[in-house]
Amino acid sequence: MKFVDEYRDPTRLKIQLAELRKMITRRWVIMDVCGGQTHGLLRHGIEQELEDVLDLVHGPGCPVCVTPAEAIDDAVELANRPDVIMTSFGDMLRVPGRRGSLLQARARGADIRIVYSPADSVQLAVREPEKQVIFFAVGFESTAPATALAVLQARQLGLKNFSLLANHVRVEPAMRAVMQLPGNRIQGMLAAGHVCTVTGYAHYSEFVNQFRVPVVVTGFEPMDLLAGLTRSVQLLESGEPQLCNEYSRSAQPEGNLHAQRLIDEVYCVATVPWRGFREIADGGLVMRPALQDFDARSRFGLAEALLSSDGECRSGDVMTGRIKPIECPLFGNACTPETPVGAPMVSSEGACSAYFRYARPIEVRT
Ligand code: SF4
Repeated sequence: MKFVDEYRDPTRLKIQLAELRKMITRRWVIMDVCGGQTHGLLRHGIEQELEDVLDLVHGPGCPVCVTPAEAIDDAVELANRPDVIMTSFGDMLRVPGRRGSLLQARARGADIRIVYSPADSVQLAVREPEKQVIFFAVGFESTAPATALAVLQARQLGLKNFSLLANHVRVEPAMRAVMQLPGNRIQGMLAAGHVCTVTGYAHYSEFVNQFRVPVVVTGFEPMDLLAGLTRSVQLLESGEPQLCNEYSRSAQPEGNLHAQRLIDEVYCVATVPWRGFREIADGGLVMRPALQDFDARSRFGLAEALLSSDGECRSGDVMTGRIKPIECPLFGNACTPETPVGAPMVSSEGACSAYFRYARPIEVRT
């Protein structure tokens, strides 16, 4: 654990926090793009420690949260078929669609299983040749290589009973969409380090030039987060927006070329619906027509997921930094992790669950 401890040392953390505070002259508005960063900032008390001097808002980087309710409905509809085994990661089972969650469908008898990787679903398809095994895939470019690999493995094995219900999304188009929202007040962005590990980060130069805000590639451990914030503040205070990498132990300018080739072989870039926006141009990855046999939407004749209203849930406003979770009237009342109204309260990367777990005073939480 020595390696991780290095990035969690409380003494270093305290010193770095004090140094950061000293260099801040204005209440800068900085968005962490990734849900893992949101949880890290709150879990380690960094956001709470800096809340009087920095305005930290949380972006559209929780993949479970940006998945449209209609995609959940599609998954439930397919899972209800007697010949289908639906598989996904645990978080996805609790996210409410318009007609309930996968967990509720499972309680009614649908065969829905939690897996730890898309490859587990491929193996399940091998073991259950009489069943159609579908992997409900969500996630950014960081998870797309694993689902792409599963499809290629299934093709190599000649499987006729494995498919993906794919809802992959892309980070940078979402960051662009945030910057173009009317009344946008974001002054700096922490780019998601794990996604940059796959995609690289050189492409953010154009983003920085266009929007004139610093972008700092940032990791998830407390010292990573403080390094990202410190660099962002330095750049903001100097008035020189730049692209910087504070996650060099993992992210390189060109990224992981092998993973990029996998994504490219299976997916193409497409305009898709997103919460908080009607849709985002080039904001998603859809399966290539040549692989439609492994595309559950094509195999089972489903339409592409659309986006309906979120009702009273303000997740769109939360994920674009327009409000903080505690400003949603349902937060902690009608909406709690036990009774989630929206995905950000369910997901382990959701901003609302992070605020519920870490940001509220204990006495309010009970
Ligand atoms: Fe949606 Fe609940 Fe978050 Fe409000 S607190 S935005 S209802 S998930």
